[in-house]
Amino acid sequence: MSKLGPIAAAISGAGRWIAITGGATLGVAAGATASTIELQLPVACEVGRTCFIQNYVDADPSPAAKDYTCGTLTYEGHDGTDFRIPSRGQSNVKVLAAAPGTITRIRDGVSDGNFHESGRNAVQGVECGNGIIITHADQWETQYCHLAKGSVQVKPGDQVQAGDELGQIGLSGLTEFPHLHLTVRHHGKVVDPFAYEAASGCGSGKQLWTSALHSQLAYRERAVLNAGFTSRPVTMDFIERDGGDGGQLTVNSLALVAFIRAIGLKAGDTQWLALRDSNERIIAENRVTLERDKAQTMLFAGRKKPKGGWDKGSYTATFIVERDAHVVLKTRFTLVLSD
Ligand SMILES: [Zn+2]
Repeated sequence: MSKLGPIAAAISGAGRWIAITGGATLGVAAGATASTIELQLPVACEVGRTCFIQNYVDADPSPAAKDYTCGTLTYEGHDGTDFRIPSRGQSNVKVLAAAPGTITRIRDGVSDGNFHESGRNAVQGVECGNGIIITHADQWETQYCHLAKGSVQVKPGDQVQAGDELGQIGLSGLTEFPHLHLTVRHHGKVVDPFAYEAASGCGSGKQLWTSALHSQLAYRERAVLNAGFTSRPVTMDFIERDGGDGGQLTVNSLALVAFIRAIGLKAGDTQWLALRDSNERIIAENRVTLERDKAQTMLFAGRKKPKGGWDKGSYTATFIVERDAHVVLKTRFTLVLSD
């Protein structure tokens, strides 16, 4: 799979949205001068450290796809921003209102689960999963998708302030990894909050994020999502389920395997993972050059327990991605083995 599958966001027609009914008043400032919305972070995590942007809005009207920098972090027709947490094991991450407004629609009760396991038909009509729509002043709207079942904390008609808890990140609807999909609309049209009123081309347009977030939300072409050690076989599912926390390793563990999962790697990138013992000697390594862009990729390097067991001490894994002889991503992580 060269890309993660599409995560569409149905806003109507599903029939199970609970909407404001007649008589409710929207708490928006009628008559206020038209202005751009200012958005706060819609997730209670630190982007670039405890959560990551997997996909941006597709800025390319053609059947190809490009994010607002003309980069690869999107797919055809994607209409929002995906804030991804590193694994399913990381639960209870709150979804927050990005700006003050009135809750106009909610849906809850959709099961959590990777749609590849449940089947695409199971999420037909409920692609957004458990979701919330907030109407803001001046015909701005934000929509939040894929929340955890039973986590929605608000109801239609509620007034919210920026930062108020709406629910929790989940895995409901058309999704295969836990994340929040946020769609921003103005006058009913999708807007990229990283490139409002962008001209054609790359890198133009205004940020709708509050200025305090600009460095945290700086564009990252590539990122390490998970890194760790285990004695078990490494699969994407293993990493996804618990972040790869393979349990307590000791000098008697049957194998020692370093693993990594990264997002945003490009065709032509060479990734290299090397595992060194406490004498800086490489005891396992793995090197792969990518033939295609990859939304996510994993790599591991390890070996079986030597006769007599592992030496005590520290083992270090180094992950380096190179492109045109330049290092474009690098991380190191260490394990200390004892009895
Ligand atoms: Zn999305």
